Amino acid sequence: MDGIAGISARIAQIQALVVPLPATVTAAPATSSSSGASFATALADEVAKTTDANRTTGSAQLNSDGVPVELARYGNGQIPESALQKVGDTGAKLWAPAAQKLEQLMAAASKDGVHIGITDSYRSYASQVDVAQRKGLYSQGGLAAKPGTSEHGWGMAVDLKLDAAGQSWMRAHGGEYGFVENTPRESWHWAFRP
Ligand SMILES: [Zn+2]
Repeated sequence: MDGIAGISARIAQIQALVVPLPATVTAAPATSSSSGASFATALADEVAKTTDANRTTGSAQLNSDGVPVELARYGNGQIPESALQKVGDTGAKLWAPAAQKLEQLMAAASKDGVHIGITDSYRSYASQVDVAQRKGLYSQGGLAAKPGTSEHGWGMAVDLKLDAAGQSWMRAHGGEYGFVENTPRESWHWAFRP
């Protein structure tokens, strides 16, 4: 009995040291038999909320280099296609948030009677090398980024097939979906800036 009494006293001491729980947690029934379970439930709920929040904001998170956090570990042009998302049925692939916004953008353009086509999206390192060889480096008057530095290598840019109506529609509405025309001499190149 002394042992049990000693343990009970020690538990009381420990409980006195525990920081009061947040209101959402203490709102749960606080009987000694159920407090453990309700705390576990409340904790699980909080963890689930935090995880959901991370998923929501995390999908749009960029690191200090402007690179999607979830893709950074792969490297520019080294991203497995499975880590990218298809843009509808176009065959194009981009970082998932960019793909989703581009789908919305194309649907909105279509409603306005404007067709927007895609000529290029994610570009592997090998295809960046190929483009640089064919089109020359931008820094030397050509139209290709230095391989390994292209926004296409992160699934963060798309080259669009735009007629005059499409070009002006993009300039009027692209920004509403996070797409910006950011490269002089390349009116088809639209980068995603969430
Ligand atoms: Zn481009």
